[in-house]
Amino acid sequence: MMKYLGAAGLRAVVAGAVMGAALVTGGGAFASAEQADPLSDFLTKYVAWAETIEAEGQERGTPLTAEQLDLAKAVGIQHPEKVRLVYADVVPFPVEDPEMRAVGGSMGFIGPGVINNAQAFGYTIWIRNGFTMDRPALAHELVHVMQIERSASFGAYAREYVPQLLEHGHSDMPLEVEAYEANRKFAAPGT
Ligand SMILES: [Zn+2]
Repeated sequence: MMKYLGAAGLRAVVAGAVMGAALVTGGGAFASAEQADPLSDFLTKYVAWAETIEAEGQERGTPLTAEQLDLAKAVGIQHPEKVRLVYADVVPFPVEDPEMRAVGGSMGFIGPGVINNAQAFGYTIWIRNGFTMDRPALAHELVHVMQIERSASFGAYAREYVPQLLEHGHSDMPLEVEAYEANRKFAAPGT
C-alpha cells in the first residue's frame, strides 16, 4: 500500500506531515519542547479518538452469531461475547483533524486509492459497507481483537502496532503476520 522508507525515514515523513498541518492551521503543535515527538503526539490523539469509536461501535454494532463466537474462541479471544460487528460507509479515521489527516496520509492509512475494508477498535470490528466479511477475513480481524485484548489497553496495542508498521511494512510486521496466519488456518468451513 505504500513504499517503506525505514523507521527513521517514516518518522521524518510523519514529523513533516505534522509540521505541514500545523503551518496550515497556524497550530502550535511545536510550541513546547515536551511535544517534540510527533509520532507519540499522533498516537496519544489517535488512541483517545479510537476509544470514542469503540464506544459508538459497542452501541450500534451486532453481536457475533453462534458460529462466529466459536471462531472467536478458536482464535483465542477471552471475551467473544463483547465483540461487535459494525458496518459503515467508510472505516473511520479522524480525517476532520488536519494533523491526524496529514499523518494518516503519510503512513498510508488514508489517501487516494487507499481502501480500508475492516479494522478492529477494541472489541468492535468496523467493516466497510460492500466488503464481504468471509470466514478468513473475519478470522484475521478477530486476531487483531485478540491482540488488543492481550495488550494492556488499545493504547498499548497501538504503540506496538504503529512502530512495527513503520519498521517492517504492513505485510511483514509481526502483528499482521500473526493475523494473516489466521486467514489461512480458518479458510475452510469447520476449521
Ligand atoms: Zn490486519
